[in-house]
Amino acid sequence: MSYTQRVLASLKAKYPFQPEFLQAAEEILTTLEPVVAKEPKYEKYKILERMVEPERTISFRVEWVDDKGEVQVNKGYRVQFNSAIGPYKGGIRLHPTVNEGVLKFLGLEQILKNSLTGTPIGGAKGGSDFDPKGKSETEIMRFCQAFMIQLHRYIGATVDVPAGDIGTGGREIGYMYGAYKRLTTRYEGVLTGKGLNYGGSLARTEATGYGTVYFTDAMVKDRGDSLQGKKCAVSGSGNVAIYCCEKLYQLGATPVTVSDSTGTIYDPNGIKVDVLKQVKEVERARLTRYAELVSTAEYTPVEKYPEGKHQVWCYKVDCAFPCATQNELNEEDAKTLLANGCKVVAEGANMPSTLGAIKQFLDAKIAYAPAKAANAGGVATSQLEMEQNAGMTSWTFEEVDSKLHTIMTNLYKNVAETAREFGVEGNLVLGANIAGFRKVADAMIAQGVI
Ligand code: NDP
Repeated sequence: MSYTQRVLASLKAKYPFQPEFLQAAEEILTTLEPVVAKEPKYEKYKILERMVEPERTISFRVEWVDDKGEVQVNKGYRVQFNSAIGPYKGGIRLHPTVNEGVLKFLGLEQILKNSLTGTPIGGAKGGSDFDPKGKSETEIMRFCQAFMIQLHRYIGATVDVPAGDIGTGGREIGYMYGAYKRLTTRYEGVLTGKGLNYGGSLARTEATGYGTVYFTDAMVKDRGDSLQGKKCAVSGSGNVAIYCCEKLYQLGATPVTVSDSTGTIYDPNGIKVDVLKQVKEVERARLTRYAELVSTAEYTPVEKYPEGKHQVWCYKVDCAFPCATQNELNEEDAKTLLANGCKVVAEGANMPSTLGAIKQFLDAKIAYAPAKAANAGGVATSQLEMEQNAGMTSWTFEEVDSKLHTIMTNLYKNVAETAREFGVEGNLVLGANIAGFRKVADAMIAQGVI
């Protein structure tokens, strides 16, 4: 059995109850096969065994009082996965599906993603099984404060710098930042995604969605094509999906779908981004509200989805941008997209495609951009926010956006070049994993074992 397969087998024996983590580890380890075969030092220093085990996992109780005066108890976590190339960095997810295995999958991905940005940040992820849906403003605030009462001991501007993720946007980051400041009396860039008048960076809100489209633009141009005139399916309707749609329009493409956990919107005339922002960012409503406001929009509730498929991938489109959550695009969905002529898939969400779906895309040799490369623009811009905070300064929207564009274009080149170096041109999964891995692995070797 090869080194990578042995490490994978031992993980499967050790963590059978963490399926998302095993899925991410399998995708990464299998594609690292050629680099560990070429470079025996990685096995000699047991780099794979070390890289798949977090440096530290902190788990804690979050207790808070709801509006009825009842005590509520949630589970909170921070997985500080790898600090070889910089302070821990990664988002905080607030969603009922959060558990240690989900955060380990996200943290492992984050190590390689952060390395690919070319900036000095390590990998981490955190969150809670708290469900923000249906909670009042004050309940959200009290939860965020209670979460930070536990977390503040373990983070800091040069230690670990959390950010947003599913369920954690500007509002939640604000409450967490306020609590951190009161608890520590320190005013420092300990969180990113902050409000613009207290240390946030312009273009951070847009960065993940914009970055995904910048990456896709570089990828399709490299294949002699462009995004101009392309019809695109986008899933999700949160932060990443909204700004993915916005940038698609700016580059001449048309997003024709969005979705949430209760249904899918299809509009052949194109999604109205201003209405979407009003519904999701201002009213915090469901997509049924969007359908009320836009007469050409067709709404399909989850109960009407075809058996085993997600409605959002059932339309005739040129490109697909999964921007909602993990495993939202399965093998059947991939077959449907390919049969309908889809030639480009770029992942705004983390691990949205199942292993079966990825195989379909790679076998069909379409332009497939894996999450850790395509959605790295969010964390890259978070790092730009850290730079601005450290320098006590702030840059214009244009400056940040232009840096983001450069980072994503260079990232594409690095990943595509690495795929070529290993003889699998166009396989950006292998390119991203190996390019991200090498930098972290070499730093781990250089820093020795204690
Ligand atoms: P948001 O909370 O803003 O939006 C999430 C969207 O996905 C919502 O439309 C939500 O619908 C939908 N969704 C979530 N869970 C499910 C589910 N189980 N089934 C169907 N739909 C679901 O999160 P973001 O936009 O920030 O994050 C989306 C993805 O992008 C995640 O995978 C995240 O890890 C990734 N990402 C985010 C970054 C960022 O900067 N924000 C950076 C890099 C990656 P509903 O409201 O109904 O739950």
